Formats: sequence, C-alpha cells, structure tokens
Amino acid sequence: MFADAIKPAVEKPTAIIVAVKELGEADLLVFFLDQWGTLRRGVAKNASKSKKRFLNCLEPLSVVSLSYSQGRTGLLLTEAQLQMSFQVFREDPVVMGVGNLMEELIISFLPENDPHEESFSLTLQALNHISERKLDPIFVTILWILRMMTLTGYTPLFDRCAICGTDLDRKKRWVWQLEPLRCVCADHYLTGSFKWEWDVEVLMFLQAVRTMPLDHIWRLRLSSVKLLVLFRNVCRWCEFVLQREVKSYRWLERVMAK
Ligand SMILES: [Zn+2]
Repeated sequence: MFADAIKPAVEKPTAIIVAVKELGEADLLVFFLDQWGTLRRGVAKNASKSKKRFLNCLEPLSVVSLSYSQGRTGLLLTEAQLQMSFQVFREDPVVMGVGNLMEELIISFLPENDPHEESFSLTLQALNHISERKLDPIFVTILWILRMMTLTGYTPLFDRCAICGTDLDRKKRWVWQLEPLRCVCADHYLTGSFKWEWDVEVLMFLQAVRTMPLDHIWRLRLSSVKLLVLFRNVCRWCEFVLQREVKSYRWLERVMAK
C-alpha cells in the first residue's frame, strides 16, 4: 500500500539523444548524453506505440529534457520534452553524414556511465555551429573529433619530435604516423605504415584545439585545401584506434566524392 511513496526519484536533466534502437515490439532502447557528459542508456517502454510521452523527442541529436528513473535492470525513460532539434541534419546529405559520424563516434569512444564533463557542451556547441551554417560542417566535425579524442585521452601531445626532440616551431615539415603512433620531423626515415606529411600549420592547429578553452576553438581557422586531408587523416586515426571501419565515415566519404 505504500508503493507510491517509495517510487524512485524521477530526474529531469537535459540530454542529447545519441541513438535509438528498437527493442522487442514496442520498446525503444535510447542512448543519450546527459548534461554532465555521461553516456547512458535507458529503455522507453511502449514508446513505439504510445508516442505521446516522447513526441518528436527520440530523434538522434535532438536536445531534450528527459525524465527517467532507476529500474531494477537499468534506467527507465518516462517522458521527454523537446528543447532543440536541428533540421539541418535531415536536409543536406553531407550534414546528415556528419551527424551519423558524431553519433557513431560518441557510442564508440565514450565509455557508458563514465562522465567526461566537457563532452556535453562540446557536442551541443558543435550542433549549434553546424545548424547556424556559418562554419563548414566538416571543419566543425574535425574540431569536435579532435577535442573528443583529447577528452577521452587518445590525442598525443604533438609538441616535439618523438625521435630527436626538436620543438614544433623549429621545423616546417612533419610526419604524423599511426603505427607506431608518433609525430616526428620529416628528416627521419620511418618504417611502419600510416604516415602523413603535415606542415607546421596543421600541427599548430592540432595543438590549439587540444589546449584552448572550449568556447574559443571554433574561432580557429585552417586553409581549405588542408581541411579535407586532415578530415580523412583524423577519421582514419579513429578507425585505427577502434581497430575497425567507422561505417558512417565511409558513407560520408562516398557522399563527398560525388
Ligand atoms: Zn626529429
């Protein structure tokens, strides 16, 4: 008779919906990034049949207020209200591909239930910048990936040659290698694979994305000829770290080649 009084507390924080999968006939499994930068999963019971509680809310990359409670086997989503949705991700194939890439990389790189505080504001700022269309979506994605890889501890320092120790500003031509992972001045003969020659502009850019306050990284600039090369390098790096193809990146490559 006291069942109502001991119901688990319902929370209502802001969240970015990351991915939604069907679970059985009527339930949906929802991955979301909460406002504290934690990737979580919860089940929206009966959500595919009774859409009212989640009206237009369970679209990937929507920003919502999400109510949920701790159930016996995991989080149960009870209700959501839409705060922001980004139409641009449904209009333009390249932007759509960028959105899919962000979803796939969040699921791949952020460990569940382990907060990476800046990841929420980083993703929200990236979505807003893409939606405003003032910055190239590929450029925003490069910034987002590099910063996300820094947050999760994957980005190397890029501050001096891994072989001779020469500082970044003392040489113009550099090589970034994935296997083994290192950044060296172009004077050395390198064995191994996945080598790309980068000039000092690219390396300074990488340094800046890693070290600047988040709000400022969107003001960085990079010559447009280097943008696409860097985008490919960065995505191949993600694949190298994950040891598998990033499907959304491969799809985006095909779209961009048309
Ligand atoms: Zn060197």
